[in-house]
Amino acid sequence: MSSRWIRNGLIYLIIVVIAVALFYNVYSASSSPSSVFISSVAEDAREGRISKIVVSGDDLRITRTSGVEVVSRKEPGADLTEVLSNLGVTQEMLNGISIEVQTPSEWGSWLAILSSFLPLLLIGGLLLFMMRQAQSGNSQAMSFGKSRARMLDGDQPTVTFEDVAGVVEAKQELQEVVEFLEEPEKFSALGARIPKGVLMVGPPGCGKTLMARAVAGEAEVPFFSISGSEFVEMFVGVGASRVRDLFEQAKRNSPCIVFVDEIDAVGRHRGAGLGGSHDEREQTLNQILVEMDGFDTDTNVIVMAATNRPDILDPALLRPGRFDRRVVLDLPDMNGRKAILDIHARGKPLAEEVDLKVIAKQTAGFSGADIESLLNEAAILAARGDKKSIDMEDLQEAVERVIAGPERKSRIISDDEREIIAHHEAGHALVMNLLPGCDPVHKVSIVSRGMALGYTMPLPEDDRYLKQRSKFEDELAGLLGGRAAEELIFNDVTTGASNDLERATLLARKMVTEYGMSEKLGPLTFGRKQELVFLGREIGEQRNYSEEVARAIDEEVRRLINEAHETALRLLREKKDKLVDVAKKLMEVETLEGPDLEAMFA
Ligand code: ADP
Ligand code: MG
Ligand code: ZN
Repeated sequence: MSSRWIRNGLIYLIIVVIAVALFYNVYSASSSPSSVFISSVAEDAREGRISKIVVSGDDLRITRTSGVEVVSRKEPGADLTEVLSNLGVTQEMLNGISIEVQTPSEWGSWLAILSSFLPLLLIGGLLLFMMRQAQSGNSQAMSFGKSRARMLDGDQPTVTFEDVAGVVEAKQELQEVVEFLEEPEKFSALGARIPKGVLMVGPPGCGKTLMARAVAGEAEVPFFSISGSEFVEMFVGVGASRVRDLFEQAKRNSPCIVFVDEIDAVGRHRGAGLGGSHDEREQTLNQILVEMDGFDTDTNVIVMAATNRPDILDPALLRPGRFDRRVVLDLPDMNGRKAILDIHARGKPLAEEVDLKVIAKQTAGFSGADIESLLNEAAILAARGDKKSIDMEDLQEAVERVIAGPERKSRIISDDEREIIAHHEAGHALVMNLLPGCDPVHKVSIVSRGMALGYTMPLPEDDRYLKQRSKFEDELAGLLGGRAAEELIFNDVTTGASNDLERATLLARKMVTEYGMSEKLGPLTFGRKQELVFLGREIGEQRNYSEEVARAIDEEVRRLINEAHETALRLLREKKDKLVDVAKKLMEVETLEGPDLEAMFA
């Protein structure tokens, strides 16, 4: 591979050198005698400094007595002697000069034509040469149609299952693929149909790409990866030829893994996007299907693909014999997060007191990628503080950074505003603390972060997959606690609660239309989710219910919100003293957490 590169490089170099030399020659030959005005020729002639003039058409080539040659031009069509005598050169003076008239030679004009075409010829030749190279070899130049699949082999740091944590089921399922890649004969001897395609599904950052590499690493086979979005970027027809090339390369290196990352970029429902039904994506997708169908029983190539939008994939991709295996990589649970923390804490010195379990507990909803960046942030913070190891404080700060962006100590907030924010957050915290269905409050702060002016951080006890209606109702009250506190203390409301209200409304609506938690409407779901496929995003809901039901839904949502609001107001009214205390303390210290917070609530 590399010797080929050197050879090609040399050829290019030689071509360039020849081209430069040619240019230099052609142009220097015709222009090296300096060119002078005819008047200065006349002057030279008057002074007797000229020995010879060669006339060729209108071009003059003058040889001085000193031996120097210059060139000049006379007026087109005029006679040289006439021109010179007009400039004061007498016949006498001309006698000393030998004037030679050449009919402009054929050769000369050919040379002129050639020299003006030569650059074009050279460039054309170079292009042809490069095209030939691109077609015949692995050269990168001009290789539009070649796949950009990168082959990873022994040189690459091998990732194994050990580097992927918290996805036990996925590992078990993929173990089978690993075994097949290791010993294909064992399976084919028993007539087992080998899995061709494995689709990995899961939210971004939860280790799909990592897992695919780990499978290749476990089985110690080559790994060809390409991203679906790369297919889309070029001319029509190129994507399909890239796929063909990728699979050819893979078959030559089997057993191996072909990994198509972000397959949703090419694998959407055909005919659903913009740009008609014959767009580039579709051709690319078709080619992938053709290649997968074309595998013989002894083609030991396994195609893995990753997506976070399995719902928009073309059904043809999911048919038996194609991506018929699905492996779900979900967001890690607490134990998973602990394991991922352990993996990424390798090689980072942690202080004695650090307990990663606590961090794992605080990071519900974090993906593997979030956790990786959390530890990185913590390391940066520790380095900035000139510490020898990462301590708990760094980790805590890093958690919050990843959640809400860096702390903004500089934003200017007036005292009035601070007072309102403090009461608002105290309201949230108090209501959440009083209601059993709310997660315990872990931290309250009026230091603004990212977009939020203040925040109250609940700490979920454990990951929950089922939630009761009573829990939702308490959560609604907690969300409305901020606004309720503002009303109670200031008899006025601010815009600060708009995000709370939005979240509360959304939750209430879901309770009614998705979870069937309204007694009035019963255990039904309402509305069909609709999305624009080419945006890949939900844009609205298709109504499948009547006006009356719509009204009933609105009423139920309103009732839920109102009740929650009442609850929050009632609780805060009862504990108004406490609310004021917490708010005051917040204005003083800005952030309350841990024992201090518990003491406030006690
Ligand atoms: P995806 O392809 O699902 O979007 P990636 O595989 O690119 O996610 O993950 C990004 C990074 O996050 C990985 O390089 C890895 O460092 C980290 N990561 C994600 N999930 C895990 C996991 N389960 N175990 C260890 N690290 C993980
Ligand atoms: Mg990825
Ligand atoms: Zn709020």
